[in-house]
Amino acid sequence: MPFIPTTAEEMRQRGWSELDIIFVSGDAYIDHPAFGVPLLARWLENHGFRVGIIAQPDWRSKEPFMALGRPRLFFAVSAGAMDSMVAHYTPARKLRHDDAYTPGNRHGARPNRATVVYTSRLKEAFKDVPVVIGGIEASLRRFAHYDFWENKVRRSILFDAKADLLIYGMAERAVLEIAERMRAGEGLKEIRDVRGTAYGCGVVDINNHAIIPSYEEIAASKEKFAEAFRLAYQQQNPWSALVVVQQHGSRTLVCNPPSLPLTEVEMDAVYALPFEKGPHPSYTETIPAWDQIKSSVTSHRGCFGGCAFCAITMHQGKTIQSRSKSSILAEISAMTRKPWFRGTVSDVGGPTANMYGLGCNSPDAMKKCQRESCIFPNICRNLRTDDKPAVSLLQAVRSLDGVKHTAVSSGVRYDLLERQPAYFSELIAHHVSGLLKIAPEHLIDHVTEIMRKPGKKTFETFLARFREESLRFDKRQYIVPYLISGHPGCTLADMLELALLLKNIGIKVEQVQDFTPTPGTIATCMFYSGLDPMTGKRVYTATSDREKGLQKSLLLWHLPAERPKVMEALRELGRESDSGMLWGSEAGNVQRTIRPRGKVFTKKAR
Ligand code: SF4
Repeated sequence: MPFIPTTAEEMRQRGWSELDIIFVSGDAYIDHPAFGVPLLARWLENHGFRVGIIAQPDWRSKEPFMALGRPRLFFAVSAGAMDSMVAHYTPARKLRHDDAYTPGNRHGARPNRATVVYTSRLKEAFKDVPVVIGGIEASLRRFAHYDFWENKVRRSILFDAKADLLIYGMAERAVLEIAERMRAGEGLKEIRDVRGTAYGCGVVDINNHAIIPSYEEIAASKEKFAEAFRLAYQQQNPWSALVVVQQHGSRTLVCNPPSLPLTEVEMDAVYALPFEKGPHPSYTETIPAWDQIKSSVTSHRGCFGGCAFCAITMHQGKTIQSRSKSSILAEISAMTRKPWFRGTVSDVGGPTANMYGLGCNSPDAMKKCQRESCIFPNICRNLRTDDKPAVSLLQAVRSLDGVKHTAVSSGVRYDLLERQPAYFSELIAHHVSGLLKIAPEHLIDHVTEIMRKPGKKTFETFLARFREESLRFDKRQYIVPYLISGHPGCTLADMLELALLLKNIGIKVEQVQDFTPTPGTIATCMFYSGLDPMTGKRVYTATSDREKGLQKSLLLWHLPAERPKVMEALRELGRESDSGMLWGSEAGNVQRTIRPRGKVFTKKAR
């Protein structure tokens, strides 16, 4: 199937003089289901709509936004696969010089706060055409929220952008319903009841709605901020959520309940759309994000882990939506026929690889469930943890013609190890590629508790099992532990304990993620308010760049460049004597791990 039109000439080649819906995206156009805009464009095209894409328009004038003319129904705006501020700045708020979603890895192809800027240019160009905003930036900023880059509470992005409607979460159902109703003659302003959408209005009947503290209240009070976050978070179960209402001055933000998850049949239909599986031919330079994902396959969506620093629950939801084995195999078989395919499937996964095929065994409990996580602080008795579907999938992928090797490079939740022994054996025996990425994030128990992650004991059990099994299969392979410094709840002393503990168990890390307070996470709420929104307890948070820097350096104690900062941290803690424990006789057989984490390419929204 030809690429979705991006120019008037490409519209003409299809015999179209007018489009129904035009997407405007902050990412380059790569026709692959790993990218939201192309996926939704193909989805609408499949339902009979004429769709176009304007990718990375120059936002300094309105002309590039007029390249495909005036759409019959609406414009759909997305900042891209990442929040534009996360894409542009490091956790220390320093400007990045690259952009993996742009040809040539070049910085500067999209503006800061792209959703707001694009909407404004579209309104200049076509005042009366509705603009619907979506994607991760709009989704996670749907309520009034803390913005780390300005260090202040901002209004809902719907009001900042002056858009007509906001779609949050995975948008297939919502965008299709809106498009079909508009095609049937309804105006966008009349469409007020679609799940997964938010809109602004003057007055609203608040019966049976969840009212959360207003923008003005949460901007003035951190307690109110935490309360608003908790109340909104509690309305994320699609089967029991109420409409959430938040006042912004005289304007009311109305957020409908989340979309219902896609069934297996629907997931298969989405991934069977006729993608070209490649960047638009107009690009002459490599796009790093494409290189990273082109030989990977998404097996499922959603995550029930509930990690405090992750926004998946607020975006994709807690329900695992898996594709059928045959759908995944068909996609990989087609991939093996691509000229660039060299025999390695680089990933079979989703936000958390070993959640494929898992879910809640009790439909009644699931529909009322208010737990943040199905596995923290303990594994829920209703959770189906059967690893047969995942094992059978990996075995089938390995045996496909043309596949020489299959890696699992999405993260795994190792606290499911006891329940999934066959999956872990399979993984360790066949799918590690030398390095297995896991995400303990920390190992000091009171910190992991705040993160909603398993603690030290679970990690040590996993590590022992991983090493034993690797030996049994005669494999020389290591784990890459993802660790976060500066997370709410973590002090400088905790970081030193973590550094000593890692040394004792023989692991050196070479990259550490400094915590970034991205919109929509429990941890960001803690960072700003100093409160755990779910328990109301005070949480210590390192907020100065200096302390965050010292925390990070402690985990990198073995790098010569970090030594002055490590000494500064030890002096501050009055524990200079511990320098001997760090730099004294190094533990034999220390595993050095390289953490390939800079920009986010994984399927997990962080
Ligand atoms: S009842 Fe248990 S398994 Fe089901 S959704 Fe809730 S926490 Fe998860």
